[in-house]
Amino acid sequence: MHLNIKLTIIASLLFAFFPLQADAQDLQLGLPIQCEPEDGCLIWQYVDQSPDDKYFDYKCSIQSYDGHKGTDFRVTYPAMQKGVPVLASAQGKVLGTRNNMRDVFVDDIGVQAVNGKECGNGLVLDHGNGWHTQYCHLKQGSVMAETGDIIQKGQQIGLVGLSGKTSFPHVHFSVKKNQKVVDPFDPDNEASCKPSSITLWEDRAHPVLAYLERPIVGIGFKGQQISISEVRKGLEKESNGSQQDPVILLYAEIANIHEGDRIQLTIFDPEGKVFQQNISKPFDRKKAVYRTYLGKKRRVAWMKGRYRGVVSVKAKTGEMISTDSAFLQID
Ligand SMILES: [Zn+2]
Repeated sequence: MHLNIKLTIIASLLFAFFPLQADAQDLQLGLPIQCEPEDGCLIWQYVDQSPDDKYFDYKCSIQSYDGHKGTDFRVTYPAMQKGVPVLASAQGKVLGTRNNMRDVFVDDIGVQAVNGKECGNGLVLDHGNGWHTQYCHLKQGSVMAETGDIIQKGQQIGLVGLSGKTSFPHVHFSVKKNQKVVDPFDPDNEASCKPSSITLWEDRAHPVLAYLERPIVGIGFKGQQISISEVRKGLEKESNGSQQDPVILLYAEIANIHEGDRIQLTIFDPEGKVFQQNISKPFDRKKAVYRTYLGKKRRVAWMKGRYRGVVSVKAKTGEMISTDSAFLQID
């Protein structure tokens, strides 16, 4: 009896001091998506940790926006078209689903069109102990579960899509405990700007969970001009052209640009000489996504061979933060 009381006291003291660690251990999450960084799969936006109208992510950086309640796992448009599985991050019971919304860039239809249905197609799972997870923006008709179903951890529940309030193919994954948003990267919500000692991720070293600075989400050449909004449908790093193509253009799409950053685009001709180059002015504010291009119109036939395009992002300090290349073969 005496021992029991003692244990109870110890247990409640532990709980009082470490309540969130105890909570965090209730739920261990697998990835909600089956994809690899090589396929352009990455986290674009994190949970907004700021309680007011400012915003910051769990690293106290800008990869979020005001009121963002989840983690956005982005894939490329061609990958989405092929089909990227969305997975249950833990065993749970389906609380509700939606499956009939169109896959369309919200910029093309306006946010009014998805009013009240911002999540698009998706589902909510109940994991017990007050834990819920939600999966949004799934592909029309892809949701593979119904209310009341029991889903196993890692089971496919749908495909990544473009439904609801979204301007890129992704799954918005949100975690709640007793209706309160929890950031799986920082469940105690301390926003200490240091790597959190606790996360809800079972495999926190998984490459898709890596924190990427200014990721270059697309780069590729085109032999004719495309609209800048077409860039969001994906660029190929290797392309072929002809000597008679009207233009040689290098397009790039970059995420999470910081104030003060500069973007440099360079095209090298087949002999390795600079064919065209541009360095932007410093950005005067953050940009969640930026699409740009550089190139030339044809006057005479293009030189045969392999052209190389390079995009780099440089911080205010001059430090190179990210870079990537694409190639064009002209025969
Ligand atoms: Zn989101």
